[in-house]
Amino acid sequence: MPGRLQDKAALITGAGSGIGLESSILFAQEGANVLLVDVNLPAAEKVQKLIADRFPNVKSAAFKADVGKEEDVKAAVDKAVELFGRLDFNNAGIMHPADDNALNTEEKIWDLTHTINVKGVWWGCKYAILAMRNNPVDEAKGLHTGGSIINTASFVAIMGAATPQLAYTASKGAVLAMTRELAMVHAREGIRFNSICPGPLKTPLLMDFLNTPEKRDRRLVHLPMGRFGEAVEVAKGALFLASDDSSYMTGTDFKVDGGLTSAYVTPI
Ligand code: NAD
Repeated sequence: MPGRLQDKAALITGAGSGIGLESSILFAQEGANVLLVDVNLPAAEKVQKLIADRFPNVKSAAFKADVGKEEDVKAAVDKAVELFGRLDFNNAGIMHPADDNALNTEEKIWDLTHTINVKGVWWGCKYAILAMRNNPVDEAKGLHTGGSIINTASFVAIMGAATPQLAYTASKGAVLAMTRELAMVHAREGIRFNSICPGPLKTPLLMDFLNTPEKRDRRLVHLPMGRFGEAVEVAKGALFLASDDSSYMTGTDFKVDGGLTSAYVTPI
C-alpha cells in the first residue's frame, strides 16, 4: 500500500523535538522524503537516524538552520530541492520564558519571538513558494502538485489567556493572518496554505514552562478532556493537511486542541 505522502518531500522545521519530531516520523512512515531542519543539529540528527533505521526506503537528512535568519531558511529549502527535487513544507517556533504582559515584556524578547515565529514563517513560505512553482502538475489526478504549506500557530491566537505571553500570542496571531492571505494569493497556483493551531501539549516547549503542579492545574481545569495533548496528535493533523486528503482545504485555522477553543464550562 502506498503511503499517504508517497513521493512527496517534506521540509520540517523544529524537527528535533515535539510536534516537529513526531511529524517527521509520521511523514516518513507515510512515504515522504524528509529534510529535518533544526537549530539544534544533534537533535535533528537523532531523529534522522531513527527514521533511517525504521524506514530505509525513505530519503532523510538532518540540516542545521535558524529560522530567524533568512539565509538559513533559503539554504534549507535549497537543500531540500537538491535532495528531493520537490517540496512540501512545515514550520517551527519558540515561546520565551521571559515573555510576559504588556508592561513587563522587554522589547528584545518581543523582537526575538517575532523574528523566529513570524519572519521565520514568512521566509519559510517565501522560499517554499519559489521551489513549489517548479513542481509538476499531476495529470492523472487532475491536481496541481504545487504543494501544501503548514504553518504552526497556536490556540492562543484565537482565545485570550490571563497567564500572558504577549509577544508569543501576537506572533501566533500574525501566523494565522499571514497564512490566510498567502492562501488567497496563491490559490490558483495549487499551493495550499493552512495553519495548524495546537492546544497545550506535553512537549518540552510547554512543560519546561509549566514546571510546577500549580501551573499545570491552572491550565488543566480549562481543558475539556482533562489532559494536555500529545505532539503526535498534532502530527496526525499535520499529516492530513500535508496529504492530498485535504486537497480542498486552504486558508484554514485547523485546530487540534481537545475542544479547548469551543469550551465555556468544562466537565468536572
Ligand atoms: P519543542 O520546543 O518541543 O520543539 C521545537 C523545536 O524547534 C526544537 O527542536 C528547537 O530546537 C527548534 N527551534 C527552536 N528555535 C528554532 C530556530 N530559530 N530555528 C530552527 N529550529 C528552532 O516545541 P513544540 O511544542 O513541538 O512546538 C512546535 C510549534 O508548535 C511551535 O511553533 C509552537 O509555538 C507551537 N505550539 C506548541 C504548543 C505546545 O503546547 N507545545 C501549543 C501551541 C503551539
